[in-house]
Amino acid sequence: MPKKIAIVVPVYREAENLPALYQRLELVTAQLPEFTWEYIFVNDGSPDNSYEVLASLAATDSKIKVLDLSRNFGKEIALTAGVHESINCDAVICIDADLQHPPELIPRLVSAWGDGAEVVVTVRTSTDREPLVRRWGSTIFYWLINRVSSFEMIPKATDFRLYDKKVVLAFERATERERMFRGIMDWMGFRRVLIEFKADAREHGEAGYSYSKLWSLAINSITSFSLWPLRITGYLGVFITGSSTLMLLWMLGNYLLRSQILYTPLAIVVVANTLLIGVVLMAIGLVALYIGTIHTEVINRPLYLVREKIGCA
Ligand code: UDP
Ligand code: MG
Repeated sequence: MPKKIAIVVPVYREAENLPALYQRLELVTAQLPEFTWEYIFVNDGSPDNSYEVLASLAATDSKIKVLDLSRNFGKEIALTAGVHESINCDAVICIDADLQHPPELIPRLVSAWGDGAEVVVTVRTSTDREPLVRRWGSTIFYWLINRVSSFEMIPKATDFRLYDKKVVLAFERATERERMFRGIMDWMGFRRVLIEFKADAREHGEAGYSYSKLWSLAINSITSFSLWPLRITGYLGVFITGSSTLMLLWMLGNYLLRSQILYTPLAIVVVANTLLIGVVLMAIGLVALYIGTIHTEVINRPLYLVREKIGCA
C-alpha cells in the first residue's frame, strides 16, 4: 500500500488564488507518484465565491475533498477541521491558500518525513514588503512567549508544516476551545526538523489577518501557554509592599533616632498608603494562583504524549 499524504488548505477569500494553487500542487504531487495524495480544502465561510471554485475543482478531481464551514471560524479552527478530516492519512501537510507558502517545497518536507521527522516545520527567512510593525510585533511576540512558556516556539516558523499521523492522533486529544494551532503543535513536542524558505508576497487579495486578529491571537497564545501574566500582579505586590515597608521604616527610624521629623505627614501617609496597595496586589496575586490552577484544569490538555511503545500492552 502506498503511503497517503493529505494537504490541508484553509481558505478564506481566496477564489483568485485557488486555481493557481491547485495547478502548482498538481505539478508537485506528480513528482512524488509513490504516494497517494488527498487535498482537503476547508472553506472558512468565505464571502466570495471560493466555495464555488472549490466545488468545480472537486468535480474534476477525485483527490479533492472540500469542507465548507458554516461561517468564518478563523484560520486556527479551519486548520483543526482539516487536520481532523485527514485522520486516515499517514501524514498531513498544512499550507496557506495565498501562495505565500511555495508548494515546491513539499518534496523536501516529505523527504525529511521519510528520514524520520515527525514534524517538519518551514521557517520563513524574509517576506518582501512586510510592514515594519508586523515584523517587530512578531519579534516581540516570540521573545515574550519563549520567555514565559515552558516549551520552545520557533520564531518565523510558519503554519506550512508536515505532521506525521502520530502527531495528528495526539492532536485529536487537544480539547481547548481558544486555540493557537501552531502553539499546540509546538507544545506537543515530537521530533522536529526545520526547513528554511523565502516567502513571496501575497499573489491576490489582502492578508485576512488584520492587526486586531493578530493581537488577539498573540494574547490567546500567551494566556493558553503561560500563567505568567497572572503571577505578575503578585510579584508587583511583593515588590511594592517590600519597598514601601523599607521606606516607612526609614522615615520612622529617622524620627525615633534623631527625634526630628524630616518628612511631612502627607509623605508618611502616601507611603503607608502605597504599602496597603502592595498588600492588596499581593492578595490578588494569591487569588490568581488559584485561578491559574483552575485555568490549567479547564484547558484539560493531555498530561503527556507517547511517541512509541515497545513491549507494552
Ligand atoms: N484564513 C482562514 N480564515 C481566516 C483568515 C485566513 O482560513 O479567517 C486562511 C487564508 O485563506 C490563508 C491562510 O489562512 O490560506 C493564511 O491567511 P493570511 O494570508 O490572511 O494570513 P497571513 O499570511 O498573514 O498569516
Ligand atoms: Mg498569507
